[in-house]
Amino acid sequence: MLFRGGQTITSSGLSPAAVRVAGTTISEVGSDLNPQPGETVVDATGRWLLPGAIDGHTHFGMPLAGGLSSLDWAASSTAALLGGTTTVIDFANPDAGESLSAAVGRWRNLADGHTLCDYGLHVTVTDTSPERLAEIPGLISAGLPTFKGFLAYKNRLMLTLEQMRSLMTAVHEHGGMLLVHAEDGEMNAAAEHVLLNTGRTAPVWHPLAHPAESELKAVGEVLALAAETHCPLTIVHLSLTDSVDALKRARQTAGESATLIGEVCLHHLFADEGLYSSGHETALAAICSPPLRPAANGPGLLAELAAGNLDFLSTDHCEFCLAAKAAAAAGGFAGVPNGCGGVGERLVMSYTKAVVTGDLSLPRWQEVLCERPAALLGLADRKGRLSPGCDADIVLFDPTPEYRWDPLGASDRAGSLWAGLMVRGRVSDVWLRGRQVVAGGRVTDDRAGGVFLPRQL
Ligand SMILES: [Zn+2]
Repeated sequence: MLFRGGQTITSSGLSPAAVRVAGTTISEVGSDLNPQPGETVVDATGRWLLPGAIDGHTHFGMPLAGGLSSLDWAASSTAALLGGTTTVIDFANPDAGESLSAAVGRWRNLADGHTLCDYGLHVTVTDTSPERLAEIPGLISAGLPTFKGFLAYKNRLMLTLEQMRSLMTAVHEHGGMLLVHAEDGEMNAAAEHVLLNTGRTAPVWHPLAHPAESELKAVGEVLALAAETHCPLTIVHLSLTDSVDALKRARQTAGESATLIGEVCLHHLFADEGLYSSGHETALAAICSPPLRPAANGPGLLAELAAGNLDFLSTDHCEFCLAAKAAAAAGGFAGVPNGCGGVGERLVMSYTKAVVTGDLSLPRWQEVLCERPAALLGLADRKGRLSPGCDADIVLFDPTPEYRWDPLGASDRAGSLWAGLMVRGRVSDVWLRGRQVVAGGRVTDDRAGGVFLPRQL
């Protein structure tokens, strides 16, 4: 199969290129490839060929206490494909007392046979007993080299600094990487306690339970632990420019040999805390942690992403039906499941709000959506690039149309912060490992053909 007539994004910008696919992988890329006898030709005239994008941070079908869960793998992965994302890395979260490998098995069961896109799993660690830490080397050899620890969510997921130190030591010892949610669980709990005790329970108060100082304190602490343990670290969803400043200082001190990575998420770039006072339903949809921040942070974070001080752009996609969030809100914001959607919006929204505006160059846009997350999270050999030998995950992107955004996927998706915004550009067609799955903006193959991807750092 030969894609011709389109342009690819190279380090210097757009360039005419053809891409040949043999079976499930890319076999040739060049400017002067001609069709072979009998070969299928895809006319990409007027469109750009992008590698299938990688979302390094999603929560599809995440079960919560009380039987609630975020939208399932079928619905969420459909949104991913329609949005040009062919690979996500989700999180296996163990229940209390459950082994890490049992949690991975449970997540594989949620995804396999249901997901339309490919996926990998980060493994959340909430119990740092010797028995749990002993599982780490086996998981790394099974293609699960990235772990997640929380300084947030007291009494649920939070690790103490002592536990975080043990986890980082173990992950480093066996060659893995740790992802950290850096907010101070104690500080958030204290802020929440004051709000609830003074009757401030409506969704509009949610951000006040997540003060900026809480993120800054936790970022500082986890960077200090990384310096001490030498554990490769990704701080996920950095939401404040002050946090990025702390990361930059730590990199300077640590030097080239340290791995200190900063992730930023779509909603922290392009939405702000004004949504919490834009009506009850909008506020509910915007409940996530860290919360949306004051408006000045978004452009600041975008500048850091453009400059290379933030490394890749994810979504933390974790979408709940509005009805579920509303029901949970009856008892106050503290009971509302945290998370919002974005996996379907990431390409188009970032193109509209960062590339069209001139804030992010085209090569950097492609890098932070595709090549960097693949390279940093252990998929460098097969995802994120249009290069011979890589999986034939190919997106045709039409940069011209201008229209009002309609959320993708199921009709009851209400976590969308993006509905009704004017956008530029459209994902028209998508191939996953050589098989067309989206044509003309519609899913044409809804077989749950996504596979688990073992990763290696
Ligand atoms: Zn998350």
